[in-house]
Amino acid sequence: MAFGAAMLATSLQAAQAPKNVILFIGDGMGPAYTTAFRYYQADSQVDRVSDTVFDRLMTGSASTFPHDDTVVTDSAAAATALATGTKSYNGAVGVDAEKQPLDSMLVRAKSLGWHTGVIATSQVTHATPASFVAHAHSRRDYQVIAEQFYSRRLKPDQPLVDLILGGGQSYFPMETDQLGDRMVRWGYQYQDKLEGLDKLTRLPVLGLFAPKGFPYAIDSDQPKRLSLMVEAGLRLLGGSDTPFFLMVEGSQIDWCGHGNDIACAMREMEDFAEALELAERFARDRGDTLVVFTADHSTGGLTLGAAGEYRWEAGPVKQVTASLPVLTQALLNQPAEAMTTILEQHVAFNFTPEEVQRLASVSAEESRLYTELMEMISARSFSGWTTTGHDAIDVPLGAIGPGAEKFVGHLDNTEISNTLQQMIR
Ligand SMILES: [Zn+2]
Repeated sequence: MAFGAAMLATSLQAAQAPKNVILFIGDGMGPAYTTAFRYYQADSQVDRVSDTVFDRLMTGSASTFPHDDTVVTDSAAAATALATGTKSYNGAVGVDAEKQPLDSMLVRAKSLGWHTGVIATSQVTHATPASFVAHAHSRRDYQVIAEQFYSRRLKPDQPLVDLILGGGQSYFPMETDQLGDRMVRWGYQYQDKLEGLDKLTRLPVLGLFAPKGFPYAIDSDQPKRLSLMVEAGLRLLGGSDTPFFLMVEGSQIDWCGHGNDIACAMREMEDFAEALELAERFARDRGDTLVVFTADHSTGGLTLGAAGEYRWEAGPVKQVTASLPVLTQALLNQPAEAMTTILEQHVAFNFTPEEVQRLASVSAEESRLYTELMEMISARSFSGWTTTGHDAIDVPLGAIGPGAEKFVGHLDNTEISNTLQQMIR
């Protein structure tokens, strides 16, 4: 009996062990974002219940609280929990509450000889990717973090991170003997334009496509930048017999959430969803790859339904084609007559004469102008916001591939990490 049970356990383990592990983190992507995205991407009222990739892969939910008693985490503490399985303080990058260094699942994968990668739409030194690669007492130590992408090699002849794609040129300068230049001379293939992703042909690669974070998808002529990077990442990492661990962050869902900018957030969700679909297809085709998606926390206290009304409308959200910061800059110091024309360039629904007057009355005050615009667009769509910071609502969790069944139900973010680390072996 004991022998039989042991045999069963061994075969189950063998069946569950993925060759490759991909972790998607939607920064700030609480459940209101995945819900809103379902209605946002539906073609019509009739089609509004059709599945999104989040619905298809959803297996459970996750708590995100940090080490202290505040309950509301920041991205650094949450990413450290996801990367290492240990709760820490807000601002911590890969260190515990006593500021002692912690090894991440990326480091674990590398120590086992796997290829490793990080992809983000923020600078790659930002809290989430940083927590998988570096140790820093403060998330603001960007240069300290950048240096560790290169210097923290487990073996002198092997990079810690084989694939680095995102923003952050400012932290990897290419002048002689500066960090970027040293990495290229050491052996990294480098590209600084998304059009150049095809020219990346072998690991290790360093692709940095913006000085810091990318422009928002809604303001960008390349709104599918995360999908493009993930496509290249899967090609480069997936084309080898060596197993790989890849972390992908949709970094700016959170930034739009801080700005209480629903149209901005939905365009970020669109890019993140398409990137996740690429990984879903990769997992379905190959059968050897575990893909897990979750969020580090929710942002903005977003809710669907506001002001006592029993409705939420995606239509007005689709009709806004610029982020609130861009809209605000365009309207700043403009008279009412010019405002109508400017609004028409960026927003397909009409603002009432009263609304335009209200905007004109604060046109010289940037933050009041921003707030008025935000409230008008939120009111049109019946989107509610409780904060410009984060909130503590549990986040979605989903998985596909070998081992996906381990991610069912409610898990703490540290349990997601510990389970993933058990699968990297
Ligand atoms: Zn945030």
